[in-house]
Amino acid sequence: MPELPEVETVKRTLQEKIVGKVVKGARVFLPKMIKHPPAEEFPGAITGREILGLDRRGKYLLVRLTGQFVMVVHLRMTGRLTYTAPDVPLAKHTHVIFELDDGHELRFQDQRQFGTIYLMPEKELNRISGLRQLGPEPLAAEFTAGQLGDMLAGRKRKVKEVLLDQTFLAGIGNIYADEILFVAGILPERPADRLSEQEVQRLYEAIRSVLQEGINHRGTTVRDYVDGSGQQGDYQHRLRVYSREGEPCPCCGQPVIRIKVGGRSSYLCRCCQD
Ligand SMILES: [Zn+2]
Repeated sequence: MPELPEVETVKRTLQEKIVGKVVKGARVFLPKMIKHPPAEEFPGAITGREILGLDRRGKYLLVRLTGQFVMVVHLRMTGRLTYTAPDVPLAKHTHVIFELDDGHELRFQDQRQFGTIYLMPEKELNRISGLRQLGPEPLAAEFTAGQLGDMLAGRKRKVKEVLLDQTFLAGIGNIYADEILFVAGILPERPADRLSEQEVQRLYEAIRSVLQEGINHRGTTVRDYVDGSGQQGDYQHRLRVYSREGEPCPCCGQPVIRIKVGGRSSYLCRCCQD
């Protein structure tokens, strides 16, 4: 599932291609992907708008359009949004096509069909509850270790479950949570409010460095993820523990183990994390 570094990479790759282009038309093949407005009104509502810029908030991609409209895209499990030449054959599971005035298309593909697309005036974005309830951006300059410490206080749940909670912190999913906790040397089952000040500091630094590393390597492709130009990421080759059950820990050589935490597979090293 695309997490913060993957959505950030999609944003950056699309930025180069689609900013300044005008949407000439849209075709919706699977109406349920469009959450707002009603799917039959969607092509008319987006046609004629110029793409002014792209932003990311957590795992949401925000496409800013003229008329103070924003298209909000969430890729969920298997969504892909790619800038494609019109003569490229349609990939399976292509559900929405945007025609751009440079002759290219922006195609939304989603095998599992959990992705969502909204189009609404900027001032109404708060109607999207997942977006409204997002916690702070972990890479924002104003997000500090002190703030993380305050946020963790009183959270009795396991630290990994807290990291995955989008209302706590925006953008972290299962892959980066495991990598962050390994780098911080903290076991995922630890109660979040029991971390020492030193551990909070290490967790903060790991959150920032691992997410930034993920962006620098253009995201992680474990299954489906590709960026806005259809390229796979590169961070999967640098994962320390995620999906590496039985392989030697990069620090101590002991085998990486897999356990369930809050129902999710979690990869860790019992030697290096406590
Ligand atoms: Zn180890």
